[in-house]
Amino acid sequence: QLFMPLGFLGFVYREIRGSMANIENMFRLLALQPAVVDAPGAGALERTNGPVEFREVSFGYGGERPILDRVSFTIAPGQKVAIVGASGAGKSTIVKLLFRFYDPDAGHILVNGQDISQVSQHSLRTQIGIVPQDTVLFNDTLYENVRYGRVEASPDEVAQAIRLAHLDAFIARLPEGHHTLVGERGLKLSGGEKQRVSIARTILKGSPILVFDEATSSLDSKSEQAILASLAELAREHTSLVIAHRLSTVVDADQILVLHRGRVVERGSHAELLAREGRYAGLWRAQRAGERVSAPGA
Ligand code: ADP
Ligand code: MG
Repeated sequence: QLFMPLGFLGFVYREIRGSMANIENMFRLLALQPAVVDAPGAGALERTNGPVEFREVSFGYGGERPILDRVSFTIAPGQKVAIVGASGAGKSTIVKLLFRFYDPDAGHILVNGQDISQVSQHSLRTQIGIVPQDTVLFNDTLYENVRYGRVEASPDEVAQAIRLAHLDAFIARLPEGHHTLVGERGLKLSGGEKQRVSIARTILKGSPILVFDEATSSLDSKSEQAILASLAELAREHTSLVIAHRLSTVVDADQILVLHRGRVVERGSHAELLAREGRYAGLWRAQRAGERVSAPGA
């Protein structure tokens, strides 16, 4: 007799936790951009694994200076497109527009051929998993911080995401394992550890379109390579947009865009861009030289 109500309470508790996570998410989104609203009668974006298309997209944050200037590119389903360029070039702004934190001043962004300004934001955002540059952790356990990616996921699915993000060895060393409290009131994680939590969360979310915004920039080269191997597995079934700090992350991309002051100034595969002897080739040589200086013998 007691068993049922307790089971039901557990269910209610999980439901409440689930909606709390969504409320937190909502506040984060509101804080970032209250101005973007659904078009009247906006329908849902169909579940898709692409293509993603930017068509002559221009955008500014309201100041005089345009941040993006007629940016165009297409990511075919299952493909990986990378964006490289100096800090401030506008790379993260492209991600924010795709997630529709802002609307373009001109041009169109299409997912699966549907203009994202004409679909509900909720349906758009379930289709896209983003590993952002700065990850927000909640004051909760490591486990819950990963599960936040998809609150209805099973414990096995959470464990699998933790493994793919190479967080399992780290968690195994903690006395309380994945029940360890993190966030401001818990264990302080390093930048790289936070990024792994974020990667696990995004893997769990299971969106067909994946966006990595300098998602491995806080990791050392060795951890980065390990995680990249997992991500490469994942990327095969997903459409991915990768913004990279280290060019070693993008060599396998189907197409690399070089963004300079909001404009795509070069595009092509790694080999094509090297042969071009332009800006990308220069960046590549500078990074290789830097690696040799900082890691002799590597
Ligand atoms: P990247 O990711 O390539 O380093 P960003 O897209 O973050 O570049 O930024 C491009 C430019 O837009 C920068 O000059 C930055 O200062 C400016 N910027 C970014 N976010 C905002 C914002 N919320 N409001 C005003 N300007 C911004
Ligand atoms: Mg950025």
